[in-house]
Amino acid sequence: MEKYVGYRCSVCGKRYQPGEVTYTCPEDDGILDVLLDYETLEDKSREELICFPEESLWRYLALLPVEEAIGLGTPLGAAGWTPTYSTPRLASELGLKQLWIKDESSNPTASFKDRASALLVARAREIGAEVIVTASTGNAGAALAGMAAAVGHQSVIFAPKTAPPAKIAQLQIYGARVILVDDNYDAAYQLSLEATEEFGWYNRNTGYNPFTAEGKKTAAFEIWETVIEKKDLDRPLSVFVSVGDGNIISGLHKGFKDLSEIGMLERMPRIFGCQSTGSAAIANAYQKGTEEIEPVSADTLADSISVNLPSDGLRALRAATETEGAYVAVDDQAILQAVADLGRVGIFAEPAGATSYAGLKKALEDGLVQPRDPVLVLNTGSGLKDVDAAMEAAGEAPVIKPDLDEVKKLLES
Ligand SMILES: *Cc1c(COP(=O)(O)O)cnc(C)c1O
Ligand SMILES: [Zn+2]
Repeated sequence: MEKYVGYRCSVCGKRYQPGEVTYTCPEDDGILDVLLDYETLEDKSREELICFPEESLWRYLALLPVEEAIGLGTPLGAAGWTPTYSTPRLASELGLKQLWIKDESSNPTASFKDRASALLVARAREIGAEVIVTASTGNAGAALAGMAAAVGHQSVIFAPKTAPPAKIAQLQIYGARVILVDDNYDAAYQLSLEATEEFGWYNRNTGYNPFTAEGKKTAAFEIWETVIEKKDLDRPLSVFVSVGDGNIISGLHKGFKDLSEIGMLERMPRIFGCQSTGSAAIANAYQKGTEEIEPVSADTLADSISVNLPSDGLRALRAATETEGAYVAVDDQAILQAVADLGRVGIFAEPAGATSYAGLKKALEDGLVQPRDPVLVLNTGSGLKDVDAAMEAAGEAPVIKPDLDEVKKLLES
């Protein structure tokens, strides 16, 4: 007996039993939504649903499709439950009444991806899968490698060899089998699928394994518990998130839909997807008003969202269209500026992490959000993972001789 009732294809709507499929829809390769037993959950009280004291994503175990919380007391058990900061200075700069930044860089491997990887390792344990494999631009791999290492599970990571060195170092340190591919992320992704089939591994790929979004949805639960329930909002919350493959935004949407389905969420937040103009496949489709997502030739310094054809594009698009949100695209210059803006309130984001903040600025300019709308921006990853981009955002520091007069000269200039 599984703890979820089955799957529904996001493309054709066909339903499957838990044991019938593992990855995508056999009919059309559509991504599958995991369906919980909503009828039973609906009858439970808030206290019964959130009964777990853990300050991690495992506090939501009742709403997750796995039986057991694993890795408690290890980094795996610490994924999620990230801080949400109030940022009045940025709010007043932007003319907003309320602005929060939820900082996912404080996850154990320093990105949002830990949420998915923690759940995937738990799932792998349940189904007895010994080796978990993923393709990654860096963070998903680091998250899988780190979460797997925490409980002694084996992992294999395919990443483009152009991934930032800090991310590759992280994979190596966690003891994963790291395979760098002399090509882009899309090619690493394809190769990982072939290897999965050949060697019988369990594949965590984003926009392929239905369970990743189930881990990622826990961020929506946290936003609900710490902001929507607590802050007495008089308008729907607008949530800004950076989008590459589109699985984080789909996961957030799923989390809010789950809460709504069981009667715990009255008003759906508006979800805004933010892409780089150099990797804007979903934003392009949004602008054209179509669900046909055309591949682009991705070129952006925000490596974590650099994708030609998003693997979870359709659900990612609907996360915005079904919630009265929108998609915005911002150029790399605006992304670097956003890295600097967040830095000034003590938050160090990698470019992909700050793209959401750049997107908020654009959405305000375009009138997509109003000054009195409450806004939450997710920073999805740490700036320490990509110091080259950080240096570009921050500029050079002056170098002087060790002499007080030089300090005085510098302070006067
Ligand atoms: C993966 C990632 C994203 C984008 O998530 P998708 O699911 O690919 O849309 C954004 N920011 C960071 C830091 C990431 O690692
Ligand atoms: Zn289908």
